[in-house]
Amino acid sequence: MSMISSSSELGFELRMLPFGSSAEAEAALGRSLTAVESFWFWYSAGMHDFWLYAHNIVFLLIVYTIAPLPLAIIELRWPKSIGKYKLQPKVRNPPSAVIRCYKDVVMTFVLAVGPLQILSFPTIKGVGIRTGLPLPSWWEVVAQLVVYFLVEDYFNYWIHRMLHSKWGYQYIHHVHHEFTAPIGFAAPYAHWSEVLILGIPAFLGPAIVPGHIITFWLWMVIRHVEAIETHCGYDFPQTPTKYIPFYGGAEYHDYHHYVGGQSHSNFASVFTYCDYIYGTDKGYRYQKSQLAQLREEWKTAEQEEGIKGNGKLEKDK
Ligand SMILES: [Zn+2]
Ligand SMILES: [Zn+2]
Repeated sequence: MSMISSSSELGFELRMLPFGSSAEAEAALGRSLTAVESFWFWYSAGMHDFWLYAHNIVFLLIVYTIAPLPLAIIELRWPKSIGKYKLQPKVRNPPSAVIRCYKDVVMTFVLAVGPLQILSFPTIKGVGIRTGLPLPSWWEVVAQLVVYFLVEDYFNYWIHRMLHSKWGYQYIHHVHHEFTAPIGFAAPYAHWSEVLILGIPAFLGPAIVPGHIITFWLWMVIRHVEAIETHCGYDFPQTPTKYIPFYGGAEYHDYHHYVGGQSHSNFASVFTYCDYIYGTDKGYRYQKSQLAQLREEWKTAEQEEGIKGNGKLEKDK
């Protein structure tokens, strides 16, 4: 039995494009293909949807293993020019901790994330994620990504909050909190069941507003890059995400790891609105205001010391 006929019996067609040639595609669309669409046609016309979807595994593996590397090098070498941005400067993760984290993350990827991608293929097809032409416009992609982020953020918040219950923390979530000062590689560092549970909110957005497979790939990659940035352990002043309204970021999530198991603050993974609405950012805001006050006092004391010192120098002359 061929793969195509068996797939039809399952209720979905695996071959992605119903067009035999780009000319047929242009005739069906009533316009010429763009350069990107021509490339897409050339690349994917003969490819089964399952293999297209499986690209996700490769993209995620690249993000998991390569994207945090520059951050790991910074963590291990800690150049002074960058070290000053470290959020918890007293904590330095040794090479053994970074390597163990990396190995565990790859192991969880092979045993949980990869199989989840494969098993979720019928769901992806079922909710209507398309693979054909036309390709989505940039506006469509951006609008859908915004929806995916908002939906995932909301459900992730509540699941994360439940994982901080006594049972949830003791049996599942404590693994993610082993790094009290997180590093990029530690973003997906978690109990395998947590990785699977948190996969649900990541699928919800695309299930509610299904788009093109390219949008889905982008969503998965951007979401994981965002998680790495949030766990990087550094508050770089030039970070572009600082300009996104209600964005949490590294400093925001670092506080959650710093407090650890007792943390009842900063549960949100991406934006801050859930913590604000449900009042779970009070501890963080209080600590932040206290720190700002202390800094202000130090600054004033330093300035006064400087004036006194200058006065003394004037007298000595
Ligand atoms: Zn937590
Ligand atoms: Zn975390």
